[in-house]
Order: sequence, then C-alpha cells, then structure tokens
Amino acid sequence: MQGWILPPPAEPTKSASTFALERRAKVRWLVAQGLLKSARIKRALLKVRREDFIPRAYRDYAYQEVPLPLPGEQATISCPHSYPLFYEPLGLDAGHRFLEIGTGSGYGSAVAREVVGSGGLVVSIEIDPVTHAFAKANLEKAGYRDVVLVLGDGGLGYAENSPYDRIAVTAACDEIPPPLIAQLKIGGRLIAPKREGDRQNLVLIEKQAHGVARRIICEVLYVSLRGTYGART
Ligand code: SAH
Repeated sequence: MQGWILPPPAEPTKSASTFALERRAKVRWLVAQGLLKSARIKRALLKVRREDFIPRAYRDYAYQEVPLPLPGEQATISCPHSYPLFYEPLGLDAGHRFLEIGTGSGYGSAVAREVVGSGGLVVSIEIDPVTHAFAKANLEKAGYRDVVLVLGDGGLGYAENSPYDRIAVTAACDEIPPPLIAQLKIGGRLIAPKREGDRQNLVLIEKQAHGVARRIICEVLYVSLRGTYGART
C-alpha cells in the first residue's frame, strides 16, 4: 500500500510459541503507548492469533506495525495498533451489537467478537468476493462461527441486524455513508477514516437525539472505500 514499506514475502519460520511471545510483547507495547486501556480489548488482543489471519508469505510479520496485503483487489490487514486505535474511542464493550465495514482478513471481527462476548453480535461486510472468502475461511478455522459475514457494499450498512451500538469503517471515505448513521442507535458511536483534503483523519461520531457530535482522533492512512459511497480518486 502507498505510504507504507512492505517487507518481502518469505516462507514462514516462526513457531506458535514465538508468535505467543510476540503477541504478549505487542500488548505490553500498546499499553505503554497509551493506546490500550480496556481490560476486555486487552484480553481479546492476547487471545486472537493474528498470524492465522495473514497470508502465508507475510505470516512472520504478523506483529510488525505495517499493513500487509490480503487476497483481493485492494485489501490489507491493518497494523496491529489500528484495532485498539479504533475500539478504545468507540468504547467497544460486552453486549454490543457491532458492525464492521471492510472485513479484510477477519482479524478485526475476531477481536470484536471476543470483546462483545456471548451477549453481543458482530456483523462484518466486505465488498470484494475474494477477500470475503479469505476472511470466512480464517474465521471458521479460528472457531468464530457466529460472526455474521456479509458480501456486499458496506456503505449501505446491513439493516437486518440494525440498530447497532457501534460501527467501525475500516476504509477511507469522503463522507460518512448516511445509511450507517441511520442504522446506529441513539447514543451509539461510529468511527471512520475520513479524507479531508490530501489527509485522512480518524473521525469519531456519536449519534444524538438531534444530530451527531464529531471528534477527530488522529491522522491515519487507509485504503479507499469502494461502492455507492466510495471515495473519489
Ligand atoms: N478490518 C480489516 C482491514 C480492512 S482493509 C482487517 O482487520 O483485516 C479495508 C477493507 O475494506 C478491504 O478489504 C476492502 O476490500 C474493504 N472495502 C472497501 N470498500 C468497501 C465497501 N464499500 N464495503 C465493504 N468493504 C469494503
């Protein structure tokens, strides 16, 4: 992806115990950076084996802070720090109905599934059929059989399971797709990378009875949203 330097593809060499050490070190680093505070998100990041959501040629780089390519036209698994970066300001928690736009590898859905627990629900929409199939296989292999995976245009949301407590858009948009705001509960939150000029800002939105409150979290760099509300290039 533009703006990031991709490590070279390589045969995987690392053992499960090496990955487990790297995973724990990554979580310690995220806490030290002030990015990770919630006990539930921390537990989820310690549990989900990120290496199992990455194509074989990049598996050894699972815990490096770089987005890695996925099968499909324009898909990447986001850097490890992206997940607490999104889920902490969202306040993702037990019992939430959560909608993700851009399933990618399925890793973000797996982490969210752990956070929302048995009383919650995770729905994830992917527009690319090849990427969708990759995520589905990864999630099934990892034992996540109750994540609702939808192949379609996430800009339109997924009304069947709405309203949602929390929504995360993991591709950059020019405007927050209005159907997503419509499918959010009052008091619910949505987070999305939004293109503003030649930058992208991670924007947090809270839906109120009359309108929405917005806050910019930081600058980010994500692949563009496609579909009806796709980013203009
Ligand atoms: N959350 C992912 C990272 C996603 S990268 C992970 O954890 O791995 C962004 C993804 O959004 C890509 O897979 C891309 O194909 C998908 N995407 C882009 N536009 C979309 C749209 N309109 N609806 C659904 N998915 C979309």
